Amino acid sequence: KIRVRYAPSPTGHLHIGNARTALFNYLFARHNKGTFVLRIEDTDTKRNIADGEKSQMDNLAWLGIDWDEGPDKPGNYGPYRQSERKDIYRPLINELLEKGLAYESYMTEEELEAQREEQKARGEAPRYVYEYEGMSEEEIKEVQAKAQAKGLKPVVRIRLPHDKVYEWDDIVKGKVSFNSDTIGGDFVIQKRDGMPTYNFAVVVDDHLMEITHVLRGDDHVANTPKQLAVYEAFGWQAPVFGHMSLIINSETGKKLSKRDETVLQFIEQYRSLGYLPEAMFNFITLLGWSPVGESEIFSKKDFIKMFDPKRLSKSPAAFDSKKLEWINNQYVKAADSDEITDSSLKQLIKAEKIASDPDVMTIQWVRQLVNLYKRQMSYTGQLAEMAEIFFNEPPVLDEAAKAELADPSAKVVLDEFAKRMKTLPIFDAVSIQETIREIQKETGVRGRKLYMPIRIATTREMHGPELAPSIELLGRKKVLRHLEQTLT
Ligand code: GLU
Repeated sequence: KIRVRYAPSPTGHLHIGNARTALFNYLFARHNKGTFVLRIEDTDTKRNIADGEKSQMDNLAWLGIDWDEGPDKPGNYGPYRQSERKDIYRPLINELLEKGLAYESYMTEEELEAQREEQKARGEAPRYVYEYEGMSEEEIKEVQAKAQAKGLKPVVRIRLPHDKVYEWDDIVKGKVSFNSDTIGGDFVIQKRDGMPTYNFAVVVDDHLMEITHVLRGDDHVANTPKQLAVYEAFGWQAPVFGHMSLIINSETGKKLSKRDETVLQFIEQYRSLGYLPEAMFNFITLLGWSPVGESEIFSKKDFIKMFDPKRLSKSPAAFDSKKLEWINNQYVKAADSDEITDSSLKQLIKAEKIASDPDVMTIQWVRQLVNLYKRQMSYTGQLAEMAEIFFNEPPVLDEAAKAELADPSAKVVLDEFAKRMKTLPIFDAVSIQETIREIQKETGVRGRKLYMPIRIATTREMHGPELAPSIELLGRKKVLRHLEQTLT
């Protein structure tokens, strides 16, 4: 039975890249009716942030990703926070120490740094060199006792076999192999503070939690041989690995890094702009995975049905925010009007365009505004700016607009229009459209020469959504004011 996990470190908020890892594991589990585990890797206590875990969970849930076991969902393999599993790691470290497969290392950070500097100066790759080389058991004990007496705290290092090839069949990359002599020397499995390192804890947890497949980012490839060494030391069978291609910023062509400020990278940021979770889910799934065929819009259910990790791409995935906007627009257009109205209300309140407790009239008005702009809107956070004419003082007319109004027929049309707007019994789109038709009959002016002056005089812009409903939503008072301003 398939068991997979997403294992975030609560050192930050949910990033697009991590969300993708979570999502692929989730889809893989659901497709195979397996189990999806959420494990919090919080052993790097210095780097953890206060609400890191909660924020990760909130944002996963918002995306529509649910887990079967996790810190808040007890299962048979808990606890699901590494900080609560210290009693599990310690005896296992001791087991390796007793078997001579690991040892205490007292070299200080300064000594290690000096070693690396020397190696660099010689043009060699930095690596830890065994500090007890050529010493007998007795001598080693002596050196260690001296260090202890000085109050030094040891790290524990695993003893790597010499010239051994670690190889695995990666779901994404195919065969990958590393020689044990090229991975930086015996690496640390327990830090000075007694906490296990990532490469140790991850193996223990994946083994004890009976994880069958590890799907994770490309940035972990170099960790995998180290983890294989730990599996080997215990005589455990390793899971199947798959390392997803990295994500590049399609605009710069560079690897997407958290410091890249040209693009928003945290789920929360999109959430607060009013992006729809289903659209984000859809977009992220296409980052390095593709379905058969050309279509790109799919529901979560579709993805679960189709998901096959063999279709994970070897080449980098391009993060294209324009594509995300396009996908979100597809969802906005198809969404239930209540959902978009709700989201738009929040955005308009945030932008201080409407009061924070809108009355029924305002809500109804926003609903109509949403219908007017739905087709053009990529995300609801755009509405305040798109629909500026409804909220702000009308803009000054530009030269092109003035030129349109200079046509003699424009004045004829607008005088007639203004007169009728004052007395129109019901100020709605249908009546306004009917009025425009009447003016056409009466004046003989038609097409652009009819519509453009009315559009400019009422909305003060040359482009915008459908005219009659726009005029209705502006309301009689504003429309008359704009007309007066234009005609004088
Ligand atoms: N905690 C690790 C990370 O955040 C998990 C890596 C893994 O999946 O093994 O990158």
